[in-house]
Amino acid sequence: MIIKTTAILLQSRKYKEKDKLLTFFTSDLGRILVLCKSSRSSLHRWGCSTEPPVFGYIQLYEKKGFYTLTEICAVESLWSPASSLSSLLIFQYFAHVLDRFLPYGNPQPELFQKAQSVFFQWKAKQKEGLFYLFQFLVFFLASQGYAQPWQTCSHCGKSLENNAIEYIYCNFSQGVICCKNCTGAYHGLLTIENPVRHLLSKMFQEKPLNEEEYQLFTTHWMQIDKILSTFFSQVLDQRFASLVHTYASLKVDWIEEKEKL
Ligand SMILES: [Zn+2]
Repeated sequence: MIIKTTAILLQSRKYKEKDKLLTFFTSDLGRILVLCKSSRSSLHRWGCSTEPPVFGYIQLYEKKGFYTLTEICAVESLWSPASSLSSLLIFQYFAHVLDRFLPYGNPQPELFQKAQSVFFQWKAKQKEGLFYLFQFLVFFLASQGYAQPWQTCSHCGKSLENNAIEYIYCNFSQGVICCKNCTGAYHGLLTIENPVRHLLSKMFQEKPLNEEEYQLFTTHWMQIDKILSTFFSQVLDQRFASLVHTYASLKVDWIEEKEKL
């Protein structure tokens, strides 16, 4: 059977002597593994369109649940001389999360659409690449059923949308976000500055940030990185590492200096 679908290429691995095994996140089939025959011979027509990060249209031949690539038309690739190290690493991290946590062969059209829009927002560079990455991680967590009650204390029900509150406390594996008075009721709590909680609450609701909130994002992104990686490690995988830890040995300017006119 021939299948055509849009896809994001997440990973490419060597397979046998000349083949590759490609992991795609597709709109119609979810995450799938696809055999790409003789793609490593030197003059192969597919060339670098079989190296991530690529967004495009693919045609597959399916037989008994196994997929072979018959066409790939790359619409966008992030590999270009103008790509910065940080944007490439950000994509790698994004692809890694999808490759590791998406269930196999399970279509998630809404998540695919989000991933696709993230891909193009990256290219447009209106905001920091990190912002799109973290917005996507938040959307991913929510789409997998891990939305959090960010606005009120899980224990006493008091509203946390209050500037007088300095810190809030959470444990994602228990789905708990609480105020200072209620910390005694739980254990293993992570402390979060309340303005950052407000930011995450908006990101989880997919509400646009105003200028002031976006500024807060750029100054507090390391805290957000830590919160999201704690979230992933508490609900999905204990060994999950934050962006900063994953690339700790590389010196990367995660918040790029704005082009000066
Ligand atoms: Zn409370």
